[in-house]
Amino acid sequence: MKTIYDAIIIGAGASGLACAISAARSGKHVLVLEKNKKPGKKLYATGNGKCNLTNKLIDTRICYVSGNPDYERFLGAFFAGGDLCAAVCTFFNSIGIQTVALGDYVYPASEQASSVVWAMLDELKRFDVNIETSGEVTEIKKQDDLFFLKTASDTYSCKKVVLATGGKSYPSLGGSESGYELCKGLGVEMTDTYPALCGFTINKPAHFELLKGLRVKGIVSSVHASGLTVRREKGEVQFTEDGLSGIVCMNATCVLPSRLSLNLISAFSDDIADTFLAGAKEENGLYAGRFKDRTLIGFLNGYLPDKLCEYLVLTAGYERQTTCGELNSESLLSLIRSAADITFEINGLFGYEKAQVTAGGIDLSEVDPNTMELVNHRGIHATGELLDITGICGGYNLTFAFLSGIRAGVSL
Ligand SMILES: Cc1cc2nc3c(=O)[nH]c(=O)nc-3n(C[C@H](O)[C@H](O)[C@H](O)COP(=O)(O)OP(=O)(O)OC[C@H]3O[C@@H](n4cnc5c(N)ncnc54)[C@H](O)[C@@H]3O)c2cc1C
Repeated sequence: MKTIYDAIIIGAGASGLACAISAARSGKHVLVLEKNKKPGKKLYATGNGKCNLTNKLIDTRICYVSGNPDYERFLGAFFAGGDLCAAVCTFFNSIGIQTVALGDYVYPASEQASSVVWAMLDELKRFDVNIETSGEVTEIKKQDDLFFLKTASDTYSCKKVVLATGGKSYPSLGGSESGYELCKGLGVEMTDTYPALCGFTINKPAHFELLKGLRVKGIVSSVHASGLTVRREKGEVQFTEDGLSGIVCMNATCVLPSRLSLNLISAFSDDIADTFLAGAKEENGLYAGRFKDRTLIGFLNGYLPDKLCEYLVLTAGYERQTTCGELNSESLLSLIRSAADITFEINGLFGYEKAQVTAGGIDLSEVDPNTMELVNHRGIHATGELLDITGICGGYNLTFAFLSGIRAGVSL
């Protein structure tokens, strides 16, 4: 006779493994089906191999976005009253993983993502939970009170199903449409998806090629087409061949701006420039101070990286060889200040291959935040990235994946 499982969890990623552990601890007989050859493939790559598990500054209102305007209520109910960071740490402590905070980011004490995967798999072994790899579920059917899950080699039956299939991002680590197809087959309400936590492609202005490879700290403002600034964050911007990346830009994908406005002299006080040039000697209306024979690029290089200086000088219409003595003090100041407002028009996102997460997914109004069960599809639960809830960089996506997995697991 074929086994009828209490539940089958589809996906052995962050949320699926956490779900399987909590279900097994609650005495449930569960099976995990994973399409990859090995479980936890994406987890190994998280946090640059260190796995940024959670964050001390977690705040549901500012760390997550969703296409559902009611998402704060969902998260409020989901996370009700608890310290989320502590909840993640307690869970990992319970499977033998000590945690360490590097700044506000929390990692396993080993600073190795592999230690997290191994501990989760060992805990599942302790409860004899089977993980069948190379087992992509392609169809879910319900008959009477049972679900039947089809893979290429077998059909499995169970009383409950957990969709822990993650998103489309990083196909090289298992990201795919597979979970969305299953949802479509079941008639689950979904919001549009798009690649998030990746870089932006831009309409490249003249001389942009000079900036390629540059990393510079500043303040990035995300501006909507209406002109409204919807997000502002300090951090490092990375200029690539096609556009802009770095954590601040990746976070900006969560609000889908039309343009990014960079203030790259924020690291310096504007006063420095003012004090330095205020009352500077002028002759015949031109700057005649001690740097009058320096090129503009050389002069700016006292404040900013050389490639950026070259870009600013050429963009302002000066020549590479133009010297400070060819401008008046006011023009010199405005050249420095131009680094405080460099605007790039966005024309796209880097794509799922380079996106850490997929934004959009199962509409939150379909999900009971207390059990992660789909309200219109009783017996089916959904966890992690497959849902329309996206965190910024810093451990927030794994926090939601782990805690939603645990939440589903105890309620099966
Ligand atoms: C490079 C990288 C670094 C990241 N670093 C961090 C970080 O440090 N901190 C952080 O918070 N977040 C990080 N993230 C995001 C985080 O990894 C994800 O949000 C998280 O793993 C989502 O968990 P999940 O369980 O929903 O999906 P996943 O972990 O993606 O797991 C889903 C699993 O389901 C399997 N699957 C899918 N469809 C099927 C099917 N039909 N049948 C069987 N199996 C199926 C997949 O193969 C996969 O193994 C990172 C992401 C990437 C790509």
